[in-house]
Amino acid sequence: METRHGIAVVGAGMVGTCTALYLQQEGFAVSLLDRKDPGEEASFGNLACFGTASCVPPGMPGIIRKVPGMLLNRDSPLKLSWRHLPGLAPWFLRYIANTSPGRVESIAAARQSLLDRVHETLDPLVAAAGAQDLLNVHGGLLFTFESQAAFDSASYAFELRRQNGVEFDMLDGKEARTIEPALTDRIIRAIRVPKLTHTYNPGQLVKRLAGLVTARGGAVIRSEVRGFDIGADGVRALETNQGTIPVDGVVIAAGVWSRRLAKMLGTNVPLAAERGYHAMYEGTGVCVNSAILSVDHHLSVTPLDYGIRVGGIAEFASEDAAPDPACASTIRRLGERMIPGLADDPGERVSEWAGSRPSHPDSKASIGRSPKHGNAWFAFGHDHLGLTLGSITGKLVSELVADKPPSVDLEPFRPDRF
Ligand SMILES: Cc1cc2nc3c(=O)[nH]c(=O)nc-3n(C[C@H](O)[C@H](O)[C@H](O)COP(=O)(O)OP(=O)(O)OC[C@H]3O[C@@H](n4cnc5c(N)ncnc54)[C@H](O)[C@@H]3O)c2cc1C
Repeated sequence: METRHGIAVVGAGMVGTCTALYLQQEGFAVSLLDRKDPGEEASFGNLACFGTASCVPPGMPGIIRKVPGMLLNRDSPLKLSWRHLPGLAPWFLRYIANTSPGRVESIAAARQSLLDRVHETLDPLVAAAGAQDLLNVHGGLLFTFESQAAFDSASYAFELRRQNGVEFDMLDGKEARTIEPALTDRIIRAIRVPKLTHTYNPGQLVKRLAGLVTARGGAVIRSEVRGFDIGADGVRALETNQGTIPVDGVVIAAGVWSRRLAKMLGTNVPLAAERGYHAMYEGTGVCVNSAILSVDHHLSVTPLDYGIRVGGIAEFASEDAAPDPACASTIRRLGERMIPGLADDPGERVSEWAGSRPSHPDSKASIGRSPKHGNAWFAFGHDHLGLTLGSITGKLVSELVADKPPSVDLEPFRPDRF
């Protein structure tokens, strides 16, 4: 008798792994497939924050006027590979169309509807995986400002956060440095979000959660999905580099690579690779407690269990393009400007990483049934928030697969909205 693999989840990043766990909770047999070990792509290299204060989308009103200047400034967070511009132009046109105040406010409300459910869905998984030691629930998030102009330019975003229920405190530069003495004295103002959790190690967190999938009787399979066997009733099997795997259904949760898999399932999705970079100061003695986001430099700093991670940049290129060494050095230069101690004490080594955020032009994920097949579901496109939104996405997908009404209105996230 052939082995059945129940519902196959393709992609063992934060989104796919949480989806596998919630499917198990709904009583499904689950196989979690990845061509690598769990949590080795974007879910490894991110800035480790459960960004519950991030209802505000990256594309804000007025961005179109700023883009030309940003592309010419070597310290700007926005980078574009001109070679890829023709392919990306339709995506950018949609992106710009989503930056009017009305659109931004409705996108923020949709993102908030998921963010409101993060801890309710994440914390039980973390507890069941015995991974509470990987969470810092006390550090909070500190937005820093080196100029009044940067502070003023952020006022609309903070008003939007306030309207969506995010609580924060205003600080001056001295107060910010009392909380984080390692910060540069260029900081003149700060905004602290006290209730914000980060993980000490996002890659390890996903691995522990994947261990729980196995402990609950699921299969974590290392193989690459290369195609689908599709019959009259939908997806019958996955074609992988290890052979054919018969399945009852499939969830596509393959981050930025979901675009190719969705296309194999007959759906074109506008998913761009918004590449980010980090520099990891491994073993540095510099002490930082909170997650910190420099509004001037669009750069984040997060203390992990093996050092301090500095990262940011939105580079639009192919997901498979080689990393640009200039981006990595920009991250290091700006990070050492923000936390000067990192230049004097970089630790045992500074490792660099680049990886892709899976980004839709309307800054909302795709969560729902595939437009073409009744037994295929999409769970991708979480841009800057995939670590944060993995657990609620998994919960919602499990409800859909179980044919239950989803506990969040999924209209704004419909995969066929484009
Ligand atoms: C610099 C940076 C900082 C960030 N900071 C944060 C943050 O602080 N908070 C936050 O919430 N988010 C953050 N993000 C975004 C976040 O990392 C992503 O949104 C999230 O990791 C996406 O998770 P995922 O599971 O969808 O994709 P991934 O983690 O990329 O996982 C997809 C998986 O699919 C597998 N796969 C792909 N194709 C196939 C195939 N054909 N067969 C089998 N397996 C396949 C891959 O190997 C991979 O493991 C950041 C991103 C970057 C780049």
